[in-house]
Formats: sequence, C-alpha cells, structure tokens
Amino acid sequence: MTTWDPKLVHLVDGIIPAGGRFRAACTCGHRTTRRANENLAVAALRAEHGTPPSTCSLCGRDFAHLTWVQIKSVLVIHDVDGRQFLACRGMPDECTRLYLPRQAALDAAAELAAAELAAFVAARRAESPVRRRLRMIRGEG
Ligand SMILES: [Zn+2]
Ligand SMILES: [Zn+2]
Repeated sequence: MTTWDPKLVHLVDGIIPAGGRFRAACTCGHRTTRRANENLAVAALRAEHGTPPSTCSLCGRDFAHLTWVQIKSVLVIHDVDGRQFLACRGMPDECTRLYLPRQAALDAAAELAAAELAAFVAARRAESPVRRRLRMIRGEG
C-alpha cells in the first residue's frame, strides 16, 4: 500500500474521515496515516507520493492551479497496458478543441518561416556573384 509505482498516477483521490481525524487517499490506492485535518492529510500525501504534474497527456493543458477536487473533475486517469496517464475528461474531443487551433497556429508560423527563408535564399542568389560564375561555367559545359 505504501509503495510508489511510477507507472501509476498519484493524485489526491479523496479524504477519509477516521475517528475524528483524516486520512488522504492517493489514486494509486495508498493512504496516509491519520492527520488532524484534511489539509494536513493532503500535505502528508503529497510529501509521501509527490505532486505529479496535473497535465493532460494529449493536449498539454496544465491544471496545476486547480484544487485536487477540481482536478478530479477535469482530468481522468486512463490505463494503457498497466501504465496510467492523465487526460481531459471527454478526450479526445475536449483536447482537439484546444489542440487543433494551437497546431494550426504552429503550422502557419512554420509556413511563414519557410516562405521567409525561401525569399531570403532567392534574394541572396540573385545578388551573388558566385551564382553568376557558376551559371557561366554551366553554360559553357
Ligand atoms: Zn500514490
Ligand atoms: Zn486534454
């Protein structure tokens, strides 16, 4: 119960009241010992199992600014061959809505950069004496 498995997602899963005190449960199944209040229980769990990135594996959206309760509502743990990863609830549709505009912007930037590079190369060729000399030689051959 106390081992930390790197293949699993370790997010706060819930708070369990225990005799006037509180345990925090990790999504991997680990539970802390009893603490005086919920915040101390969560802090204890993070000390034991770390604070993993609250990021969607698909679209890269980061939910670290949310509370653990909110994170539970927006991110879902998916299991692929025993390895867990986090993704938006409603993925992949929820992700593509955000991911595609970003990808389109990247594509446009890449096209612009390529066009600028091509224009730059063309301009340098036009004014390059080396090119003229090369053309002369090619013309003679
Ligand atoms: Zn854990
Ligand atoms: Zn996502």
